[in-house]
Amino acid sequence: MKRTLLIFVVLLAATAATAQLKPRPDAFPPVDEPEPKALTMATTVEQMASWNRYPTYSVYLEMMQGWANEFPNLCHVDTIGYSVNGRLILSMYIEPQTDDDLYRPEFFYSSTIHGDEITGYVMMLRLIDTLLHGYGSNPQYTSLINRTRISINPLANPDGTYYGGDNSVQNSRRYNANGVDLNRNYPNPFASTKEALQQENAAMISYFERHNFRLSANLHGGAEVMNYPWDSYTSAQLPHPESAWWIDVCRRFVDTSRTYNSNHFNDTYSCGYTAGGDWYVITGGRQDYVNYYHNCLELTMEISTTKKLSTNQLPSYWGFLQHSFVNYIEEIHAMPGNPPEPPVAIELAATPSLTIFPNPASDHIVVSGVTGPIELYDATGRLLHTQTINESGIVDLRSLPAGIYLLRSGGKTATVVKQ
Ligand SMILES: [Zn+2]
Repeated sequence: MKRTLLIFVVLLAATAATAQLKPRPDAFPPVDEPEPKALTMATTVEQMASWNRYPTYSVYLEMMQGWANEFPNLCHVDTIGYSVNGRLILSMYIEPQTDDDLYRPEFFYSSTIHGDEITGYVMMLRLIDTLLHGYGSNPQYTSLINRTRISINPLANPDGTYYGGDNSVQNSRRYNANGVDLNRNYPNPFASTKEALQQENAAMISYFERHNFRLSANLHGGAEVMNYPWDSYTSAQLPHPESAWWIDVCRRFVDTSRTYNSNHFNDTYSCGYTAGGDWYVITGGRQDYVNYYHNCLELTMEISTTKKLSTNQLPSYWGFLQHSFVNYIEEIHAMPGNPPEPPVAIELAATPSLTIFPNPASDHIVVSGVTGPIELYDATGRLLHTQTINESGIVDLRSLPAGIYLLRSGGKTATVVKQ
């Protein structure tokens, strides 16, 4: 009975989608946008200073590494996993290191699962930079970081973004290296999935399993609209139980953005938001998967009509969106069911933890939270390597066989997996 009903609903969804709904730019992208874009690349970290360039892949890694080294008390880099072509899928995990053991709800931002939708990539990098540099001087950012664990994954599909090579985003494309649309490849909560789960998504699922995110967002481009669950059904067929809450959240996000650009979030719906399936029904998207399986409220933010936004427009988009991005994180504290929050003023731990990325690693790791000598032991306790950690924090692992190692420094330890 249930199964028959489900099949009927799915058929109805498919019919409704083709018969009534207007094309969704995100669902049916042109292969390339026609007009030539100025997609200037930053080939050094210094060139990212004005935030009007896209980083090369190595500059991206250097930026993540730089923040981890500069703010070891506030953040570390999480290795979500590796892409099909071996590029890193990383997240900056922002969490004040304290001696208290108070509850801080976990929030997650993730961008550019579609490799050519690159506006959010730079927006998320800039958000990391703004939050970390604002800690201690900007009261809002300080308070938010003190009360929240914030994970920001700027690039979920690095092979798509750097499809033309590590030094350009000009030939970035929607799909991963296997030609699969990663936002149609997640397990479908409402029907069985036939397509093989891609490596990038398997890594992301494992990351969700290792954490307890309560609120998240998946950033896209190709339209300007806030898209809340479900994507698999129209709101008439299956409304999300928190629809009213989602509409309030979307409205606040859009209203704040429109105080900086009255025309933003206006290309698809005048209100600037929609239930996903009312715009266009899709299945296998990350949003529905996360909402259904991980008890985490996630929505899809389509933040720029142009997928490959010209680099000279990136600062303007940051101006339109930065306050909305920060306020959306703050929404986690208004969600029901949160235990009491820690006080706004906290004391950071005297010495930061020892953290490592990437982990697992193939050729080198970056160590943060320690300076001075480190020791690397194998699983039998044999000392294999010693060195002094310099500013870069880099430890070369190329001479070691694959395996599990223990890194020790100043009474702190961490486990390293060499693959
Ligand atoms: Zn997209």
